[in-house]
Amino acid sequence: MQSVTKLRLVASPDERQTLFATMERYNAACNTVSPIAASVRQFSNIGLQKRLYRHVRETFGLSAQMAQLAIRKVAGSYRSTREAIKEQNKVLAALGKPLKSLTELSFREHGAICYDARVLSLGRSRVSIWTLDGRIKLRYRKPDHFPAVATVKQTDLVYRDGAFWLYATVETPDIEPAEPSGYLGVDLGVVKNATTSDGVTFSSDATEKVRQRYGRLKGVLQKVGTRSAKRKLQKISGREHRFKTNTNHVISKRIVCAAQGTKRGIALEDLKGILLRTTVTKGQRERHHKWAFHQLRSFIEYKARRAGVQVQVIDGAYTSQQCSACGSIHPDNRQTQAAFRCLACGHTENADLNAARNIAARAAVNRPIAICSPDTGGEVESQACKEHGATYGIMPPTSVGGS
Ligand SMILES: [Zn+2]
Repeated sequence: MQSVTKLRLVASPDERQTLFATMERYNAACNTVSPIAASVRQFSNIGLQKRLYRHVRETFGLSAQMAQLAIRKVAGSYRSTREAIKEQNKVLAALGKPLKSLTELSFREHGAICYDARVLSLGRSRVSIWTLDGRIKLRYRKPDHFPAVATVKQTDLVYRDGAFWLYATVETPDIEPAEPSGYLGVDLGVVKNATTSDGVTFSSDATEKVRQRYGRLKGVLQKVGTRSAKRKLQKISGREHRFKTNTNHVISKRIVCAAQGTKRGIALEDLKGILLRTTVTKGQRERHHKWAFHQLRSFIEYKARRAGVQVQVIDGAYTSQQCSACGSIHPDNRQTQAAFRCLACGHTENADLNAARNIAARAAVNRPIAICSPDTGGEVESQACKEHGATYGIMPPTSVGGS
């Protein structure tokens, strides 16, 4: 599987100057290629190479590979932008709004350089990288989540917040997931946090506070409206994003470790349950939470895959309304956001923990939740009742104690 890892480079002032100069030259080359590509509507890498390779090499004094990479960046950017516009236009057309069209792209002076293995090689602690001054070797800081066994496919050199970074696309071998001895259920919420069926809660209070603090700052800067305020605004958005991303890395790692250490799989609910619970709003806050939620979910999935932990996605209908002790489902079972109290058996529990236990139990039985009861005498049917269709009823008691 492929994933992207960010590595921070350690560079002296001289080396920084070299990297800046290389970025500027490379992006200047991109900006020469771009208008030509746009005017002749040529977005294939090979076609552009044929037309412009010699010109780019001679004009910008780039190495053969670097000239090719500049052209490839332009071609790739146009193709991905064209795809994105196509997707947007589907929505715009459905809404009867005017469609967007592809216009000429321009590249920032310090935009990313997309290196491949011929011009950049990643060693254990150093990277050897092509610059205008020839190849230089730089140390880099390795994050905890850097995979031990990985093949680097492509690496982008990125300048961000006063530092140089390598965004390395790494390919790690898939580990065949072991047959799990049980499941760790994870209840993920869009607004709140993650709770596991072991009763561990990952609070989003800290990230929510950071979001609010940044939100206030953003409000002030938006009112100011000057150019420097806008720049600052962008910087803050990036910082907020990265804070949440980092939090999600930590949470997902702990969840995967908890499952791996106990030889269990991870159970997640499909998006049905979440769609049923959340209202569609377009506020800044909701968008942020939604983005963070999907990111956490994808982090759990890819880290589990990398660790050989099986992920089972279960039917997410009514996981928050069902009693994890007796299986009864009722909308009034969930009394508040935090408290669950079963109307049938009186079982009380933290609402998120109750949901996480249902998720774990559903993965363990691995059968449709839609069963027809009590007409079947409370007996579990592995298929939805033919007579009554897929109605929800009573689930059998499930052992969730220590699992
Ligand atoms: Zn109950």
